[in-house]
Amino acid sequence: MNVLDTFQLKGRRALITGSSGGIGLALAQALGQAGAHVILNGRTASKVAAAMASLQAEGLSVSSSVFDVTNTQSVRAAVDRIEVEGPIDILINNAGIQIRGPLQDYADDDWHTIIKTNLDSVYYVGQAVAKKMIPRATGKIINICSVQSELGRPGIAPYTATKGAVKMLTKGMAIDWGQYGINVNGIGPGYFKTELNQKLVDDPVFSAWLIGRTPSRRWGNVEDLGGAAVFLASDAARFVNGHILYVDGGVTATL
Ligand code: NAP
Repeated sequence: MNVLDTFQLKGRRALITGSSGGIGLALAQALGQAGAHVILNGRTASKVAAAMASLQAEGLSVSSSVFDVTNTQSVRAAVDRIEVEGPIDILINNAGIQIRGPLQDYADDDWHTIIKTNLDSVYYVGQAVAKKMIPRATGKIINICSVQSELGRPGIAPYTATKGAVKMLTKGMAIDWGQYGINVNGIGPGYFKTELNQKLVDDPVFSAWLIGRTPSRRWGNVEDLGGAAVFLASDAARFVNGHILYVDGGVTATL
């Protein structure tokens, strides 16, 4: 087989959590363009519907499943419903939030909200989907990590804790599920202009610092992540397991 053919996702079905906007929507577009049928998710039905319409207008094959990734019962019910239509061959655990604040003043509620959204959800959705993949002896799971899986910054300790944990959960999933033909890898995005980062995008001091700190000398565009996602979701990555692929313009390479 020609190596380029191994990147094809034709006939595969991919569930991407938190794909009504930002990075998730860009990943959905990339997988769709590579031939996959994409199942969009988010909590807000109107946002999911708008995202679906935008991808359908491009001629991509899309459906939707609105559920909250922090609710284990909703997750299991949604995965069961999706699997009635067809298998989930690819899962991207992307839904995530940021709640900034100095650690000494951080509210317990915010701590629990960020942990359950960024970390518990990866376990809930990952486990529910892996249970379907294991009997089929095939599947691809991609967890969206961050440069904060490796590096901290002032005022984001809880977020950093979640992303460090998602990195290690990715390795644990790869170790437990590799024997069942499942590849579990992570993508670690650098700084991308999305709603989650709007505060930083609007701050010229931060922007200048970031661009100076990034070897590629710019912010990331969400489209920069598509190639990494298609690769890890495809047969081209069949022997890549437990790896975190940083797409960060070199941020994690330098002090
Ligand atoms: P975003 O623009 O804020 O989008 C987040 C998406 O997740 C939305 O579709 C949102 O829709 C959904 N979502 C949030 N909570 C959810 C829940 N409980 N259940 C289901 N869906 C939920 O964020 P983003 O910047 O694209 O970030 C996506 C992922 O990339 C996150 O894991 C983030 O940590 C990671 N990341 C981002 C950057 C960056 O520079 N932006 C860098 C590194 C890593 P609803 O609110 O309608 O549910």
